[in-house]
Amino acid sequence: MDATQKQELRRLFASRLTGAVRMYLEACTHCGTCIPACHAYASEPELRHSSVGRAENIRRLFWRHFRPQGRLAGWLNEAVELSEDWMEKVYETAYTCTGCRRCVTYCPFGIDTQQIQSIAKLLLIGAGREPQVLSMLADMSIAKGENVEATKASFTQAVQGLEEEVIARWRSEAGREAIPIDEKDADLLYVALAGKHSIIPAAAIMNAAGENWSLSYFEAVNFGAFVGNPEKTREISQRIIDEAVRLGVREVAICECGTAYRVMKFMMGELPFRVVSFVEVIARYLREGRIQIDPRKTEQRLTYHDPCQIARNGGVMEEAREILAHLTRDFVELQPNRVENWCCGGGGGLVAMGEKEFRMRSARVKAEQVRATGAEVLATACENCHTQLSDLNEHYALGMRVAFLSDLVSQALVASQ
Ligand code: SF4
Ligand code: SF4
Repeated sequence: MDATQKQELRRLFASRLTGAVRMYLEACTHCGTCIPACHAYASEPELRHSSVGRAENIRRLFWRHFRPQGRLAGWLNEAVELSEDWMEKVYETAYTCTGCRRCVTYCPFGIDTQQIQSIAKLLLIGAGREPQVLSMLADMSIAKGENVEATKASFTQAVQGLEEEVIARWRSEAGREAIPIDEKDADLLYVALAGKHSIIPAAAIMNAAGENWSLSYFEAVNFGAFVGNPEKTREISQRIIDEAVRLGVREVAICECGTAYRVMKFMMGELPFRVVSFVEVIARYLREGRIQIDPRKTEQRLTYHDPCQIARNGGVMEEAREILAHLTRDFVELQPNRVENWCCGGGGGLVAMGEKEFRMRSARVKAEQVRATGAEVLATACENCHTQLSDLNEHYALGMRVAFLSDLVSQALVASQ
């Protein structure tokens, strides 16, 4: 690694050194309380999988490059110089951390490992060593935003092809399209993922509630956040913000995608509309009596996986229980649940990176937690979680059906009495 590259990486590192991040890097007492909190460590007890073990790679660079003691007596804190070899260690620990922040809830000082790993990811991007597939997917999302006019007609046509399936779940109100797009002054802009599974159930539920809504032209997923590139994260979200402002909506509802929800809700500053997860929207419709669901339609024993970015990091937990109370008479909680729920092991871009072996090994504890419920249906509200849980279901022969919460609700919709 030459001097110019080192200087650039040092600059990137310095750009993340807010007061809070400095505290995270300096205040760790190495007490070890967070170690068993990481699903990867609990599944495969190696220190490099733990929160403190992962953070150490960055902490040692911090001591060498940003603390006088580290420069003068590096051996005191095992300070290390930026080097090619060290960047390999950084890669291994950064892109195997799902950013679930379960470890944060156990640290007595609230040290945020995800923030420390965001430095690791930024350094890897600066060194051109990030997973290229994630950067490529992020660039594709940005390009779509820049050329949206060129894709509008084909998108609209594809969406119209789904309307029959929406109506099969819930008849459309007279005079309304089953999937409205580009509706000025809609109350709610729904931002889906690619694929009809993310559009059909939500459309049926919103139509049943009589919602004045519009479907976004853009996909919710934010690959910029997965790869850890702050500029790309912002650009991808900005496309949706601009669309929401153009349409004059009052609320943006993010589909079952935890990262997209967290980025839009907590990382984009003050916005001229409310940001909600679709879980909150369903719970509100039930509370207000705008939709009814028949619990007899979900007959099998059901459990629910709280997606880390929606529940622990987004605060949406009780809304899911409100829905579940209407959806089934045979619900069993995962133990532990809510903020303490085990991460599924698929977040942070791991699913999108296509790697599977580590995902399965590091989530053994999740598979055991799910199996212990004896449930037949495992519901969740996040695409990444759904993919990872489906893979775990197969790998560990759990014999369950993995389902999206919105899908179960849309299948159980009934007319009001
Ligand atoms: S954020 Fe999650 S995956 Fe990363 S170290 Fe903490 S518990 Fe482990
Ligand atoms: S619990 Fe907090 S202080 Fe203790 S080792 Fe983990 S990060 Fe450091």
